[in-house]
Amino acid sequence: MLTEAMSRDSHQFVRLDSGDPAGEGQTSLRNPLFGDPLFGLDAKTLAARMGQAGEPAWRGEQLAEAMYRQRVAELSAITTLPKPLRERLAGEGWEVGRPRIVQVFRSVDGTERYLVEGQSGDPQTVETVWMPEGDDGESGDEVEPEGRHDGGRTTPGRSRATICVSSQVGCAVNCQFCLTAKLGFQRNLSAGEIAGQVIAVFDRHGVEVGRDRVNLVFMGMGEPFLNYDNFMAAVRLLVEEVGLSPQRMTVSTSGIVPGIERFAAELPEVRPKLAISLNAPNNTIRAEMMPINRKWPIEVVVAAARGVKLRPRERITFEYVLLGGVTDGAERAREVARLIRRTGLPAKVNLIAWNPGPGIAYSTPNADSVEEFRRTLADAGVPAYLRRPRGLDIFAACGQLKRTVETENA
Ligand code: SF4
Repeated sequence: MLTEAMSRDSHQFVRLDSGDPAGEGQTSLRNPLFGDPLFGLDAKTLAARMGQAGEPAWRGEQLAEAMYRQRVAELSAITTLPKPLRERLAGEGWEVGRPRIVQVFRSVDGTERYLVEGQSGDPQTVETVWMPEGDDGESGDEVEPEGRHDGGRTTPGRSRATICVSSQVGCAVNCQFCLTAKLGFQRNLSAGEIAGQVIAVFDRHGVEVGRDRVNLVFMGMGEPFLNYDNFMAAVRLLVEEVGLSPQRMTVSTSGIVPGIERFAAELPEVRPKLAISLNAPNNTIRAEMMPINRKWPIEVVVAAARGVKLRPRERITFEYVLLGGVTDGAERAREVARLIRRTGLPAKVNLIAWNPGPGIAYSTPNADSVEEFRRTLADAGVPAYLRRPRGLDIFAACGQLKRTVETENA
């Protein structure tokens, strides 16, 4: 039986009972937004805080370097800061406050699903998934990372991987085929909680930025564009402070039009690739599967997506969940092909055979039907790729994230 996991060791990252050991005449370094941890603040903000406290601004750079590049998780271990300063910060209640993995589920296929504890002391965890070798979701992407930080080089023998990152606890969008929707919306994650999932997984797997090929997909729990500011702040942290390429990141939206419009205005230096969760050949079927379609139907979503200025060879991905007897079949495939061609967008379709979840009354399409769908799209001139289901046995696959506890293998 599936039960909801309670995170263990509920941990308060920021001490609330700090005294004032900073000393006479010194400005407190405490964040005005009392309770915010350091992790999640960018170098500029950290520098400003240090400056306010009478420390040189470059101390902020040192903090950022330690937390985001060296992945130091404890203030006491940031040895680039003088010991008295570390003690002063700690004495004032500051913590790095990086999200941490509290439970691990390992699939027979090597996929790992994590329950990650946030920064707020909220006992609710979010889910993050590590997929060694990825799930082929990047197939057909011709945009290679520009090598801003890695010179385009990777070390032979290092395997690639994909990390699926959550942006909210639960989700309000209520897609009928999705297990996360069953949780309802609980809360937005902070920028530090979103970026922190990546850093926690990097640490676990010894990922070396600039050497290893890791793709990020913001397709975990939640709708990133309903938590837009924190989502983009996390992306900026990952690009500017951690050193990842935005071209190795893809954000998927169910079609939140104001979010797509804001996204279209982001600079290419920090803008991930865009995926739209389409899932149906027309508005009638889509509205049944995704109530959000009643607010923003397909043509309105596509019009907003046209505003995104794509990089050379970049394509927009349309994600398409195949539900047996509902969204599969050759006729539906032809309809999808017509729809995609009508958009006029450089696009590809990622097909996902629906992954079963308890309490959801859809069925998985058979393998022949999935391949027929893909071939029909391809024959109609629409590039289509099949995403491999990863971690099915640990409820880590697409649409299955719901903090389920089945097997523990930490
Ligand atoms: S598919 Fe995504 S947007 Fe839809 S309910 Fe699930 S998590 Fe939310």
